[in-house]
Amino acid sequence: MPKKRAVSVKPAEPSVRLSIRGVARLQARHPWVYRSDIIESNEIPPGSIVRVLDVRGKFLGTALYSSSSQIAIRMISHGSVADLPALVAERIRAAIAYRKDLVSNTDTYRIVFSEADFLPGLIVDRYNDVLSLQVLTQAMDAAPVRQVILQTLCEELQPAGIVERVDARIRELEQLPPLPSRLLWGEKSSTVVCMNGGHMNGGLVKSDESSGVRFHYDGLEGQKTGAFLDQRENYAAAALYAHGEALDAFCYQGGFALHAALQPAAKCSSVTGVDSSRPALEMAEKNASLNGRELEWIEANAFDLLREYAAAGHRYDTIVLDPPAFAKTKRDLEKALGGYKELNLRAMKMLRPGGVLVSCSCSFHVSPADFLGVVAAAAQDAHKSLRVIENRGAARDHPILLNVPETRYLQCLILSVSN
Ligand code: SAH
Repeated sequence: MPKKRAVSVKPAEPSVRLSIRGVARLQARHPWVYRSDIIESNEIPPGSIVRVLDVRGKFLGTALYSSSSQIAIRMISHGSVADLPALVAERIRAAIAYRKDLVSNTDTYRIVFSEADFLPGLIVDRYNDVLSLQVLTQAMDAAPVRQVILQTLCEELQPAGIVERVDARIRELEQLPPLPSRLLWGEKSSTVVCMNGGHMNGGLVKSDESSGVRFHYDGLEGQKTGAFLDQRENYAAAALYAHGEALDAFCYQGGFALHAALQPAAKCSSVTGVDSSRPALEMAEKNASLNGRELEWIEANAFDLLREYAAAGHRYDTIVLDPPAFAKTKRDLEKALGGYKELNLRAMKMLRPGGVLVSCSCSFHVSPADFLGVVAAAAQDAHKSLRVIENRGAARDHPILLNVPETRYLQCLILSVSN
C-alpha cells in the first residue's frame, strides 16, 4: 500500500467578521467593536491578535481580542500585524516622542494613554524616576507583551523603578488571574515629583533644581495611579487667577491648593483644602511641608461643609470644585447633574464679586454641553452673572482622540463671578 503523505495543515489565523454596524464604527475611526457586532469568528485564544473582516470577508485590519469584555475587539492597526510585541515597542517609543515637545516644566506626566496612544489597554505614567503602569486588557497582559513594555520603558527612560498598579475589578472583568500592585522592576516605588516649575523641560529634571510645586509620590499607595496628572496644566492655569481667600473642595493631596499657595502668579492670602479622605489630607499636609508651607486642611464631606459655611456667612475669593466622577454610568446622569448643580450653586453664593470659580467634572457621561448647562443653571439660581475665563480639559499628555469620545472626560471651567 502506498504510504499516505503527511499534509501539514496550517491552523486558520484567528479572524472575526463584523456586521455592517461594526464596520461603520471602524470606518468612523472608533477602535472598539462590541461582541454583538461580530457575526462570525473562528477559534480565538483570549488576548490574541485577530484579522478583522467585513461582512463579505474583505480585510479591514488587525485588532486585539478579548474573550470576556463586551468590547470584543480593539483595533491596533489598519494593516497586518506580524509581530505584536514589536509593534507595542514602536508605539511606546512614538508616545514618548509625541510628548517631547508637548510636555514641559514637569518631571511627571502620562507617557501612554491607552487608545489615545494607539495602545488599547495600556497606561503608563511617569513620576520623576519611577514609572507606574496599568494593564487593562488580555492582550496587554500576555507575557511577551509585558516583557517588551518593560524593556522599552527601561531603554527609553532609564527609570529607577517600575510599579504596576492593579485594578482588581478590571482584571476580574477581563478574566485575568488576580495580581497585587507591586514593584515590577528596579528598587524604587516612591519618589518626589515636581510640576509647573518655570524652567523645567520634558527631560529628566531633578525636582530640587526647579521652582515648581513638589509632591510626594508612592506608587503602591493612593487612588488611581497615585496623582491626578490630568489636572497638571489646570493647576497652573487656576493659579493665574487665584487670589484672596481660597477654598479647594475635594482637594485630595492638595494639587490646586498648593499651586494657589505657592505659584508666584497666585495672590492668595489664605488657602484651605477640604476632602473626606484622611490619608489624602495627611499626604496633602506632607506635600505642603515639602514645599516649606503650612496650609489648613479640613476633613469633611464637602457638600455638608459648603452648606454650613454658606449658612454661616463665610465668603471666599477663589473656590475650586473637583469632585469625583458623579456619573459612572449613563443611568447616573440626572443624579450627577443634580450634584454638580448643588455644588456650583453653593460655591457661587459664597464667592465675593470678582471671585474665581474653578469648576471641574471628570464624568465622561457628562458632556461639555451638559456641564456648561448645569453651571449656567446654578448661576441662574444663585442670581449671579459669570464669565468664562477659560474652558479647559485634561493636560496635553492625556490626548483626546478626535473620534473617540471616551478619551474626552475631564472638564475644567475657570469662571469669574460678577454679581
Ligand atoms: N483635586 C484633586 C483630585 C480630586 S479627586 C487633585 O487635583 O489632586 C476627588 C476627591 O474627592 C478625592 O480625594 C476623594 O477623597 C474626595 N471626595 C469624594 N467624596 C467626597 C465628599 N463627599 N466630600 C469631600 N471629599 C470627597
